[in-house]
Amino acid sequence: MRRRIAIIGGGAAAAVLLCELLEQPTPRPLHVDWYTGGQHPARGVAYGTASSHHLLNVRAASMGLFDGRRHGFLEFAQRRAPRTAGTDFLPRSWYGDYLQQEVAAALAQGERHGHDAHVIPFAVDSLVPEREGLSVMHGETSHRADAAVLALGALPPRPLPEVGAAALASGRYVVDPWKFLGEPAPSGQPPQDVVLIGMGLTALDVLLELAERWPQTRFIALSRHGLLPEAHLRQATAPSDDGAGLIEAMRDAPDIRQWMRLLREAAAQEPDWRTVIDGLRPHVPALWRDLPMAQRARFLRHANWAWQRVRHRMPPALQEQVSALERDGRLRRLRARVRAVDVAGDVAGDVAGDVAGDVAGDARRLTVEVAGQPQRLDAGLVIQATGLDTDVRPTAHRLVSQLLTNLHITPDPLGLGMMAEADGRLLRDGDAWPHLFVIGSLLRGTLWESTAIPEIRQQARRLAGRLRGN
Ligand SMILES: Cc1cc2nc3c(=O)[nH]c(=O)nc-3n(C[C@H](O)[C@H](O)[C@H](O)COP(=O)(O)OP(=O)(O)OC[C@H]3O[C@@H](n4cnc5c(N)ncnc54)[C@H](O)[C@@H]3O)c2cc1C
Repeated sequence: MRRRIAIIGGGAAAAVLLCELLEQPTPRPLHVDWYTGGQHPARGVAYGTASSHHLLNVRAASMGLFDGRRHGFLEFAQRRAPRTAGTDFLPRSWYGDYLQQEVAAALAQGERHGHDAHVIPFAVDSLVPEREGLSVMHGETSHRADAAVLALGALPPRPLPEVGAAALASGRYVVDPWKFLGEPAPSGQPPQDVVLIGMGLTALDVLLELAERWPQTRFIALSRHGLLPEAHLRQATAPSDDGAGLIEAMRDAPDIRQWMRLLREAAAQEPDWRTVIDGLRPHVPALWRDLPMAQRARFLRHANWAWQRVRHRMPPALQEQVSALERDGRLRRLRARVRAVDVAGDVAGDVAGDVAGDVAGDARRLTVEVAGQPQRLDAGLVIQATGLDTDVRPTAHRLVSQLLTNLHITPDPLGLGMMAEADGRLLRDGDAWPHLFVIGSLLRGTLWESTAIPEIRQQARRLAGRLRGN
């Protein structure tokens, strides 16, 4: 009898896991049900974009999926554009194409090995772990599995608590920027002014796409510190040592203030600080695991914003485009915290259900607190681009809510996904399920560094080994 495995989630993490599972023959062949949720199978949120402005923030040479073919993505890209270099930052849509190609090859390979894989284009609504295996439900249909893996990515974004009900109902406040960009452009006049809440890579993707779509529109981007992400250098640089001294010192002093000091000192020793951050990356999960919960909370409060800027850097081409928008006066950056978002005047009722097409003449108001002084920004459209949400406690995600309500999973106390062992086994009441796993962003509480392809492919490889071996 085949071993039945359910992979739940339609993005890159699920795709890599599927490929790893089907790649080899196993003594007991596999039956894999891949529940993709119906949208962009394999591409997910990050690689479902068609925009040429949306670039990978990792160099082509580091985006290969498999150990045996480290440069698989680079070779794929070079077949398409022979002059592509390993240091290039390529369009994310190319990566989506690469993922789809690898999935198609894995499905064919799996068949040759006697595995049986099914792509099921539905979202899983609920999941019931039992002593022997699990039941996986979508709609009225239920399937049995011996093991299941949640590869859900981040959670659907929630509106900031400062956003008023009328603003939400107006259709002029965008909670999910990716959904907004993926939908057909609204008809009518583009907005004159757009406010972007957030200044990370998501905000910049939105900015560049809309700046091209709406050449007359001006943008205000605001964030707590008013700073853009740092940029990659054109060429990759190598650190002058292996960083072992830094890692050891950090391990000896699991304290955020000490870590910041150590990082500053290490960066001062290097010709370029980026090598320190990049050298630290493989060690982050182990360091994070040993960091006391109070220190993790301290990191999130005080240091996370700075870490995000240096860790999630923008490609040089993106930096040039953003600088050009600033020079042309189309982008203004503001150091500010949102206090309230409301519909201006008494027009709330008039615009309910409308979309952001014909808003040029209407004043829409975003109230922003700047250094204690209230300031009001009027915008035809406000877009929330505040990064990945991994807090499972308040989520409207159906499957996650069901798992929480039935006490099958335990939320990370800091809102960083679900509590799990480092190998992805989900925890309930401190005990690990033997057959229920999570991969990707919802493992941030356990590993912190658990969102990008270089980490996800390692998780997928280890998990596939475990699932095949049982
Ligand atoms: C805009 C953006 C750009 C990025 N750029 C890079 C980059 O350049 N390099 C890099 O390494 N990383 C990048 N990342 C990180 C990225 O998160 C990972 O590379 C990877 O795409 C994550 O894949 P995932 O499968 O975990 O999540 P996702 O891509 O979010 O996929 C999860 C999928 O699961 C589906 N799903 C959810 N619930 C269910 C359910 N109940 N049943 C079935 N399906 C469900 C969702 O609809 C979604 O399609 C980027 C992320 C974003 C958001």
